[in-house]
Amino acid sequence: MTEIKILKNILAANQATAGRNRDLFGERGILALNLIASPGAGKTTLLERTIAGLSPALRFAVVEGDITGDHDARRIAAAGAAVVQVNTEGGCHLDAAMVGEALKEFALDAIDVIVIENVGNLVCPAEFDLGEAHKVVVLSTPEGDDKPAKYPLIFSEAGAVVINKVDMLAATDFDTTAAVRDIRRINRDAPIFQLSCRTGQGLGAWLQWLQSERAAHAKK
Ligand code: MG
Ligand code: ZN
Repeated sequence: MTEIKILKNILAANQATAGRNRDLFGERGILALNLIASPGAGKTTLLERTIAGLSPALRFAVVEGDITGDHDARRIAAAGAAVVQVNTEGGCHLDAAMVGEALKEFALDAIDVIVIENVGNLVCPAEFDLGEAHKVVVLSTPEGDDKPAKYPLIFSEAGAVVINKVDMLAATDFDTTAAVRDIRRINRDAPIFQLSCRTGQGLGAWLQWLQSERAAHAKK
């Protein structure tokens, strides 16, 4: 019983901090996305392609969440975006307080889009609001088409879903029709982008969505 109460308190405190992050984004017209996927789905590569595709018209900043190390943060810096590394030292997700601390390191007035790359995990990142406008879930074809059925919470919360590595479809048993059907069962509205960060196939629609979301959140 006690454990349940503790978890509730943790989530309530997180929600309050997430609200403050959301206010910061709102005041400045920043679009904030919370990028969630299993390890290896291609979150960082999608970010590299996105930054390359939309800079400098859109100014990007990235909060790079990892258990340890700065491998991905170095890739993002090389792609030309402002980046802050957050190491969770074993923690399997980011929380709103970690993101709030990272935000202090950015010149927020010079940023249009903040992407928070969460720790690779489809489970508890679903529970922790970070203040984002949308959760974006990335699923890659080698992982299998059963992920939406096995991890429904995160797919039900997604504001957009990316099916990455479609160039590898022929080498896998991934059934795109089944995956899309299972996503639609729990999420009627989120756009689903089928793309390959490696070949560039399908990237245009994703970039267009991001631009239109940015325009919708920009300060009038
Ligand atoms: Mg990564
Ligand atoms: Zn966790």
